[in-house]
Amino acid sequence: MTEIRVGQGYDVHAFGEGDHVVLGGVRIAHERGVLAHSDGDVVIHALCDALLGALALGDIGVHFPPSDPRWKDCDSRHFLRHCRALLAERGWRAGNVDVTVVCERPKVAAHAPAMRANLAQDLGIDLDAVSVKATTSEKLGFTGRGEGLAAMAVALVVRA
Ligand code: MG
Repeated sequence: MTEIRVGQGYDVHAFGEGDHVVLGGVRIAHERGVLAHSDGDVVIHALCDALLGALALGDIGVHFPPSDPRWKDCDSRHFLRHCRALLAERGWRAGNVDVTVVCERPKVAAHAPAMRANLAQDLGIDLDAVSVKATTSEKLGFTGRGEGLAAMAVALVVRA
């Protein structure tokens, strides 16, 4: 029987000055940026937390503390590849992953294929094992008011 683990992750960043956001490693033009130490990629941050959570390895803040200048403006795909390596060191790999982005704007659905391709590449898994979905929150709450954006992720982790 295949040994499996499951983890979940959640991340939020507030909008701030800027002209783009980065989601799933894809740069998307927007009239606002996000306040973040790294590139503020909520898709990848939530996904990293899901992968780390599956093996009870703490969270992204433990592995990439915002206090560390190495991660300033860092491409979050580096975090994801590092999480893949942490799994591999322990004999595990991502099975399938599923991410939901929550925001009113920018519209992200059209960028989902490019995000999926990035995530699949960084995790070394098939494209059909990587899902990226998008929803609004019907104008409710902080995402609804356009104050920021959020992402939720679940990851299945299997023996490599
Ligand atoms: Mg974050």
